[in-house]
Amino acid sequence: MADKTIFKRIIDGEIPAEVVYEDNLCMAFRDVNPQAPVHILLIPKKEIASLNDLTDEDTPLLGHLYAVVRRLAKELGLESGYRLVTNCGSDGGQTVYHLHFHILGGRPLSWSPG
Ligand code: AMP
Repeated sequence: MADKTIFKRIIDGEIPAEVVYEDNLCMAFRDVNPQAPVHILLIPKKEIASLNDLTDEDTPLLGHLYAVVRRLAKELGLESGYRLVTNCGSDGGQTVYHLHFHILGGRPLSWSPG
């Protein structure tokens, strides 16, 4: 079996994280290397390596994750907006192969990505 990702180790309580939200399907915690005043990572507890590994059975899970994004945006005071990012694969800049959404905000964000 492949080694656990760092996010699976956070889910399993093996390494600490600054958790801001958790339910039976997902958890959200602060990114250890924040790129904005608010930088949260939202992850499903189900081990899904990347966006490309989602299946039709994950559609309800995705709806739930988006609902949690809206809830967190409100709770974290991101009324003026935020950015939701999922890096996919090496060209997309993905470094942790456990699906995650970056929620970035707390300042105006420029575009475009490098
Ligand atoms: P990505 O490059 O899109 O795969 O994003 C991975 C993110 O995980 C990066 O922004 C890292 O800063 C973040 N990260 C890596 N290890 C940890 C950790 N132990 N706790 C919180 N965030 C982490």
